[in-house]
Amino acid sequence: MDSRVLESALRALSRYPLCDRCLGRLFARLGRGWSNRERGEAVKRVLVMELHRRVLEGDEAALKTLISTAPNIGEVARDVVEHLSPGSYMEGGPCAVCGGRLESVIASAVEEGYRLLRAYDIERFVVGVRLERGVAMAEEEVKLAAGAGYGESIKAEIRREVGKLLMSRGGVTVDFDSPEATLMVEFPGGGVDIQVNSLLYKARYWKLARNISQAYWPTPEGPRYFSVEQALWPVLKLTGGERLVVHAAGREDVDARMLGSGRPMIVEVKSPRRRRIPLEELEAAANAGGKGLVRFRFESAAKRAEVALYKEETARVRKAYRALVAVEGGVSEGDVEGLMRALEGAVIMQRTPSRVLHRRPDILRRRRLYSLDCTPLEGAPLMECMLEAEGGLYIKELVSGDGGRTRPSFTEVLGREAVCIELDVVWVEHEAPAAPA
Ligand SMILES: [Zn+2]
Repeated sequence: MDSRVLESALRALSRYPLCDRCLGRLFARLGRGWSNRERGEAVKRVLVMELHRRVLEGDEAALKTLISTAPNIGEVARDVVEHLSPGSYMEGGPCAVCGGRLESVIASAVEEGYRLLRAYDIERFVVGVRLERGVAMAEEEVKLAAGAGYGESIKAEIRREVGKLLMSRGGVTVDFDSPEATLMVEFPGGGVDIQVNSLLYKARYWKLARNISQAYWPTPEGPRYFSVEQALWPVLKLTGGERLVVHAAGREDVDARMLGSGRPMIVEVKSPRRRRIPLEELEAAANAGGKGLVRFRFESAAKRAEVALYKEETARVRKAYRALVAVEGGVSEGDVEGLMRALEGAVIMQRTPSRVLHRRPDILRRRRLYSLDCTPLEGAPLMECMLEAEGGLYIKELVSGDGGRTRPSFTEVLGREAVCIELDVVWVEHEAPAAPA
């Protein structure tokens, strides 16, 4: 036969029953603007016509071929076989690749997929396919038998067809760059599930009172402290999400306030059901949840890649603190001068503080104290200190010395015990490097 398309089709169909789609898919890159079903149907008709022509011209082998291939070709060959050789048409088995399921799975995936996209307020999506191993293997065998080389995979066909049919319903579009969800289609099972991407917002928080934790801290008697996370629950409610996660650029102690610049963070809402809520509305909900103890600013949407950059305690983070320090035996002007001379600009060697050793590895950090400015308070053994330090320096231990685990320290320089009794973070510089586009 001098048509290579027909030759390939005949080679495949002489060994395997194939539905129109699975036959047409072997030639998916030939012709434009047609479905694989149209391709397969056309090829089957021309193949039957060609064999019929040969039979009419006296080719007996062609009649044998037509009769033996007809079950694999299917209905379209029935009438001519019955006409040429009454009683010899036989029904064939289901399609060797898809088992005859492709058409119905695509149709049901579109129904279920559309329902899910609506339920989760999704406008931009992609389709993924989980293929049973047997199907992929059968597909390879048929490809090999046909030897055509102009085909596509069944996965590609399902992805494209389901995507196209969903888009034709309006309001949703396939978007590979920034999908809001992935629809996963099981084949041949036909199940569909949705993986909804989290909502991510760049935001900041201010802790205006002490004894507020960053993360929710449940105990059998209720939360241990009011938390930044808890304050954000109205945002979770507004977005209909399943869970909320705070990715903050570091954290302050529970008893430290966070003032000044506020602390940058990314708020993540997992599996939201409403995605298009204006930032002002989210911010208002968060501030209502903060009850005047925690304040929020919602700045913009964030990318997934930025989360890691926020969490990283990089050397580029600088922080400023206000500390109230008690000193054994009181504080003189001379003490303060000596302290500032010894520590300003110093690199502090700090082993993991003993109070967090149970949950953090014991390592040695080197962190610079950029500036120190202390003022003795009259009539009390206290001084108020403003400090600016590299991110990751533990201030309470810088003051106390933590039994010699932090050096130098206020205690070491003064030669008398110093304790930080109040701590506020007043400023966090955070220059997260730009996320890759
Ligand atoms: Zn098929």
